[in-house]
Amino acid sequence: MRIGVDLGGSKIEAVVLDDAGIIRGHTRVATPRAGGYEAITAAIATLVAHLEAQVQIRCTIGIGTPGAISHTTGAIKNSNTTCLNGRPLQQDLEQLLGRPIRLENDANCLALSEARDGAARDHGCVFAVILGTGVGGGLVINKTLWSGRQRIAGEWGHNTLDPQGPDCYCGHRGCVETLLSGPGLVADYQKHGGDRTLDAPALVAAARKGEPLAAASLHRYGERLGRALSVVVNILDPDIIVLGGGLSTVPEIYAQGRRALAAWAFTDDCVTPIVPAAHGPASGVRGAAHLW
Ligand SMILES: [Zn+2]
Repeated sequence: MRIGVDLGGSKIEAVVLDDAGIIRGHTRVATPRAGGYEAITAAIATLVAHLEAQVQIRCTIGIGTPGAISHTTGAIKNSNTTCLNGRPLQQDLEQLLGRPIRLENDANCLALSEARDGAARDHGCVFAVILGTGVGGGLVINKTLWSGRQRIAGEWGHNTLDPQGPDCYCGHRGCVETLLSGPGLVADYQKHGGDRTLDAPALVAAARKGEPLAAASLHRYGERLGRALSVVVNILDPDIIVLGGGLSTVPEIYAQGRRALAAWAFTDDCVTPIVPAAHGPASGVRGAAHLW
């Protein structure tokens, strides 16, 4: 059996998956606020011990987390759980858990989960993206994760979409993430004079009620999504594109995204499906388990 752990900024979630992909155990805790890095690794060890006691078997362990993992040192970078940055999380957890573990970016876990037994199960080349607080992507070919030479394959969130766009923490401007994340959608709405008290779900609700500024922002969002995905289609031409993260649950973005993708991709008959993740928020833990 395989344990998958999704290490997020607000919670740590873990499941045991059997060979048929059925969840045999599930547990979660709030990500420790105090105690820093050591408290987080200890919490993961506790979750693993809890699940193994439940299933009475020693499991493989995969971990998914936001941020990037250095291909040279294995240390975490760019994580919004900042105490992880610069720390050799994989080595430390291997020592703590007494076995080799596998660690991947959360968008890679989404792609793997959906390719193995989710919305992309019948497809060979799968590109999956998280549209949430941040934006990331992952690539799976014939059910195997393709990490790339620098382990950045699929890091589409930091392609430049608008060179005059908002500043990004990565040092560039107008990255896909600055326009297609939840905060990016809200910032676009505010920039065009929208209500400054609305968060992304409230903005979507306002658009549905016909509030014109919110509707225009959501329309621009879909247009940008399709244009940003056209770059992926022109290079990789994947069999399917899977969307995960909070904004992937907004049906309105799909039709506009498909229209814009068809307009921008270098083909007169763009048929690439864009679909929501079948496992929804569970894609992170499931994909982490599938790292083995
Ligand atoms: Zn960036």
